Amino acid sequence: MTHLTLQAVTRRFGAVHAVDDVDLSVPDGKLVCFLGPSGCGKTTLLRMIAGLEMPSSGSIHFAGRDITRLPANRRDFGMVFQSLALFPHMTVAQNVAYPLKLRKVAKDRQTRRVAELLELIQLPHMADRPVTQLSGGQRQRVAIARAIASEPKLLLLDEPLSALDAKLREAMQVEIRLLQQRLGITTIMVTHDQREAMTMADEIVVMEKGRIAQVGKPLDIYRDPVSEFVADFIGLGNILPVQYDGAGVVSLPGGRRIAVTPNPDTLLADARPAPGSGDAIRLLIRPEDICVKAATEPAHPNRLPGTVTFIRDVGSSLEATIDCAGFTLTAATTPRETPGLALGMPVLAELPPHACKLIAPRAA
Ligand code: ATP
Repeated sequence: MTHLTLQAVTRRFGAVHAVDDVDLSVPDGKLVCFLGPSGCGKTTLLRMIAGLEMPSSGSIHFAGRDITRLPANRRDFGMVFQSLALFPHMTVAQNVAYPLKLRKVAKDRQTRRVAELLELIQLPHMADRPVTQLSGGQRQRVAIARAIASEPKLLLLDEPLSALDAKLREAMQVEIRLLQQRLGITTIMVTHDQREAMTMADEIVVMEKGRIAQVGKPLDIYRDPVSEFVADFIGLGNILPVQYDGAGVVSLPGGRRIAVTPNPDTLLADARPAPGSGDAIRLLIRPEDICVKAATEPAHPNRLPGTVTFIRDVGSSLEATIDCAGFTLTAATTPRETPGLALGMPVLAELPPHACKLIAPRAA
């Protein structure tokens, strides 16, 4: 069992609770992303797992052993940081061999392992090249090969892709994910990029002000966020302040009433407040769940009349901003689904009841 578990882990810096009472279990062989805005405590949490920072209280167990106070160099975890920290005066092969050399692995085994790793990262022909002569993506791969050289049971990545341009970054996301799956190595990655987390993670840990706001599979969090903060942070969403009447109907800003099908189980789970009659609550609807209809289609309570005020058409997809008098909605569609959509056009924005989620408002 190589399972990682955190119990009530807290790290204070003076009055700041950088990490506050975090309980977490990281399953074997999975890639878990710590995701959240700047300053929410992601890096501090990762550094405590790495042994580079000591918790103020709480405990960390790995493979059934308490490692809370174990120094970083005795944890045998692989690490890649934003800066990569490759040795500039060394070649690719020397960089990858470094952790093996530190562990006094026999020379011939070192050579075999380095060859194997360079094959894995598809740079076997670059073994003797100084790392300073590599592209950003190639350096990235070398840093990962070095981190996994001594077969760590846990790989820790702190924003490893943030220095790369958008296209290379997306390519590396797929590459790292495929490599991680092939090796089956338990990996924790810090990122503030929700798209990156959605692309790569088996599980996302959304953090807010030092605490865990939600843990779950990417699509579960996207589909069923527990709070306005999570809904807003993960993906694009329309979030409207509404009044809930307690019987599957909400009043939108401006007073119009529409049907929703809240799932009472999920509303009551996770300490979510059960909405009572007249309570202020938020309605979340994702842009792709809104159907844009011609204004001439039959009226229906969940079809809201509005006017198209902005169109972002990037060829494959189309995003329309619809002013519904009192609030604005963003709907995602395709040029094929809604041909002829134009600025100023009156439309009906249909909000299917099952796609309307009710969530707790952000704490003041
Ligand atoms: P970012 O995405 O900007 O790196 P983060 O989510 O990783 O942010 P942390 O770096 O973990 O956040 O910081 C969490 C909080 O703890 C912040 O308020 C930060 O200012 C504070 N903090 C972190 N390290 C220290 C330190 N060594 N001394 C004092 N305060 C610190």
